Amino acid sequence: MGSGPVPARLWWLRLVALHQHPSPNCGPRRNALTPRFVVLHYTAMDTAQAAIERLCDPVHEVSAHYVICKTGAITQLVGEGARAWHAGAGEWQGLDDMNSRSIGIELDNDGQGPFAEALMHSLETLLTPMLRAWDIPPANVIGHSDMAPGRKFDPGPWFDWDRLARQGLAAATIRATQTRTPDWDQFRKQAQALGYTASAEDTDLLTSVRLRHRPHAQGPLCAADMSLGDLP
Ligand SMILES: [Zn+2]
Repeated sequence: MGSGPVPARLWWLRLVALHQHPSPNCGPRRNALTPRFVVLHYTAMDTAQAAIERLCDPVHEVSAHYVICKTGAITQLVGEGARAWHAGAGEWQGLDDMNSRSIGIELDNDGQGPFAEALMHSLETLLTPMLRAWDIPPANVIGHSDMAPGRKFDPGPWFDWDRLARQGLAAATIRATQTRTPDWDQFRKQAQALGYTASAEDTDLLTSVRLRHRPHAQGPLCAADMSLGDLP
């Protein structure tokens, strides 16, 4: 892994440790699509290096544009203009082929505890100009679990979405401000309006929404979950 030349538009990456480790697991974006979303993942591996090697192994046919290590080091595997293979099956806002529509970022975390401060700082450093460059609205920064309910659970309950939201790098999370009656039909409608259009069992949909908005919440659909409808 060595530092290659950095394109002029990515000058800001000089502010953090940036490594290049090109992955063969990519191709052109289909139908002339450009990135409209960012999909966040956790690696669920022992080390970032192990994740990078897997994401560069043609046998596994997976990749991401970036991997951010616990130390804050950022490794770019695929150019932002190309289609990396990180999102797989699923959809968001009624859109499929999310690989062609998004930039994928793998975060060095096993899903069992908080994300490292240095990692979060590098993620913010990476996202801020990325959203600007591709004109991606904050609400289009989503988790893998958002677009693949029941199949994917990353970046998981420990990811600090509120922190990103406070910096305008993600949509706000729900706040239970009023008492509402739990109602599955209404909940599903509210979730779909936000983007949760992938087909999913009720409980899988609830799990996905909670991972994003009410991490660590347990139990049946409740009044707080219904506050999803209060989001702008
Ligand atoms: Zn993932």
